[in-house]
This record gives sequence, structure tokens and C-alpha cells, in this order.
Amino acid sequence: MLVDSHCHIHDDGFDRSPEEIIAHAKARGVEKYITIGTSLTDSANAAKFAQAHADTWWTFGYHPNEFDGNRVRLEADLRAAAALLDGEKLVGIGEIGLDYHFDGYDRAAQIHLLENMLQIAQDRNMPVSFHVRDAFDDFWPIFDNFHLPTSVLHSFSDSEENLAQGLRRGLFTGVNGLSTFAKIPHAPLERIIFETDAPYLTPKPFRGTINMPGYIKEIAEWATDYYQVDFDQVANTTTENVRKIFKI
Ligand SMILES: [Zn+2]
Repeated sequence: MLVDSHCHIHDDGFDRSPEEIIAHAKARGVEKYITIGTSLTDSANAAKFAQAHADTWWTFGYHPNEFDGNRVRLEADLRAAAALLDGEKLVGIGEIGLDYHFDGYDRAAQIHLLENMLQIAQDRNMPVSFHVRDAFDDFWPIFDNFHLPTSVLHSFSDSEENLAQGLRRGLFTGVNGLSTFAKIPHAPLERIIFETDAPYLTPKPFRGTINMPGYIKEIAEWATDYYQVDFDQVANTTTENVRKIFKI
């Protein structure tokens, strides 16, 4: 059995219905899905989706690019989130983090948001799906101020040095379609989980089409080649890793 530990299956960016997407995934051995929230509204949609679909769980997230820097609004959003956080099938916090990739980002606002979200994760003892892009120098000291259960660097594609920093801190990495077409450093098999980030980041050989959780299979096949182990071992190890982190 394979698991998609980070997708946006509740998103409206797909060209098939949720039922078709899930049937496609099941037919390819991908049986569990964590659908990831990126804002208050989006997290509420993720929660609704998970409650309406079997084998689907959700996370409460606030993506750094979704915050306009208005701290009063953030406080209101987090107050409004309190009821959501008591909802069923919530398995983690994320995606949250820092993203300095595009010009015009607000560093202070992103750090403020991240610290607020990490406080929620720590208070609720929940694992986190981190989105960190071109920002690890700021990220590590903030991460070190909090105590979290085992968490994940989603879509890790940074340097060997930052991979080592993450592994030293007990973090896992989320491996997705990027690995099938880009040269990036990888953690040992014992420290990775699979994700599609669907509808984004379609793996080879489906580049140019909309990504789906069923394509975890292509990522697992890439991993058998990269780690030189058989498919069952790849599937069992990564599925067990997800189970340990997110308790699904
Ligand atoms: Zn994502």
C-alpha cells in the first residue's frame, strides 16, 4: 500500500471529479491521502473534504504566501480556526514555513505567521508539514525554539547541508515528482515519505498534465531505482513512516 502524505485533493485545480481521482489512485495502490490546507478558508475546505471521503485526512495550514502581513486579520483568522482545530480527521499543522523565492516577500510577516502556527502545533502536539524555500538560514533558529513531534520538510529540494541539518533535528523529507526530473539531495529511505503535492509538481512521464495522488506510484518506482531496493520495501517503509508521523 502507498500513501500520499501531502496533496491538495480538495483543490478545484483538477480536471476530474474527486471520485475519479480516488478511484484512479486506488487502482494504482495509493490508498490513503492527507489533504493539506494553505489558508483558513482552504483548511476549512480540506476539513470538509476529509469528512466526506473515506481514507482521507487533513491538515490545518497557513502558507507563507497566503499572508498579507495584516496581523489583526491573522489574529481573527486564528480565533476563527479554533473550532476547526477540534474537527475530526485533523492529523497535523501545515503547510507552514517561509518562502523567500519570489521578490517582494515580507520577511517579518512570514516569521510572525510561522511562529504563531508553530505555537499551535506545539500546544496541540501535532506534526508539521513544512514549506521552506530559499529561507533555511531564518528557518532553523525559529524551528529550534519549539518542541514538536516528528515532522516533515515537504518537497525538500535544498542543499546537502540543509538536508543534514534537517536529519540531525529528526525531520523527515517529503519526496515528490521533483525527484523524477530534477537533481536534488535525498534522505535515506528510512527518513522519507512520499507526496504528490497534486495538482502541482506532476512526475515524469506525465509532465504537462495535472498531477494526481495516483502518481505516487511513479515516485515509488523512481525510489526503487534510486535506493536500489524492491517495490514492496519502498512501499512498506514509506507507508510505515507516514503512519508513525501522522498516525494514519
Ligand atoms: Zn503543498
